[in-house]
Amino acid sequence: MICNNCNHRFRGNFCSHCGQKAEVDRFTMRSVGTEAYEFTRSIVVLFFQTVYRLSIQAPQHLKTFLFKDREHLLSSIEYLLFSGTVVSILTIKFNFFQTGYNQIDPMAQMHFVSTEFFIFLNHFFAYTEEYSSLTNIIAIPCFTLCSYMIFYREHYTLGEHLIVNTYIAAQQALFLLLLLPVILLIPSWKEYLLDGYIVASIVYNCWVYYGLFPEGKWLSVLKVAVCIFLAYILGLLFNLCIYSLIVPYKELIDPFV
Ligand SMILES: [Zn+2]
Repeated sequence: MICNNCNHRFRGNFCSHCGQKAEVDRFTMRSVGTEAYEFTRSIVVLFFQTVYRLSIQAPQHLKTFLFKDREHLLSSIEYLLFSGTVVSILTIKFNFFQTGYNQIDPMAQMHFVSTEFFIFLNHFFAYTEEYSSLTNIIAIPCFTLCSYMIFYREHYTLGEHLIVNTYIAAQQALFLLLLLPVILLIPSWKEYLLDGYIVASIVYNCWVYYGLFPEGKWLSVLKVAVCIFLAYILGLLFNLCIYSLIVPYKELIDPFV
């Protein structure tokens, strides 16, 4: 028999070279339906398990995922894409961040060298508001670099730090979803809730780092604080670089301008 996949000659039910089945089953409506159902069910179940596990005991479950069982959580990139997409669609649809919330105080303008720079920064902060999940995703490499350097002695690889920080960013995006119904019901709470959300995101990040990188009680607390502070600054600068690169093309990619 000749393999359909690699043209290798073989006997039996499977190709001895690439493992391809000798006879490929025909698609029927039933087999297509079963396949779609099984795929959806496994992804949906794993998604909700991941949400639950990363909310209740994130450090333990992340360790299980990294060192024992790769089926324990939805893969970090799928989790991030899913939560980032849902959050972006909803925040744009409901004008979630159209508050001028991140604007610099006009009184502060006196400290700036030029008015152009002041206006540029204000546009940048409006952009970080409107695309908050995007700016979080862009900041992931900065958090990865900071946690890798500061917790170097814990012997996690750079790749493992990337995975951990990707899960954290995805989880933070999902927390925003929890706020959405409350803000829609009671719009006057919006500013307080968004303040609370930022604090909650930072606390969540601290909790995960502290659980994963236990270098002794107070040293860990100090390192976690320094790490997150540096990562936020670096993330902001990195986003500023990206933003200044895309500004000339903003009209092309942004239908909301
Ligand atoms: Zn083959």
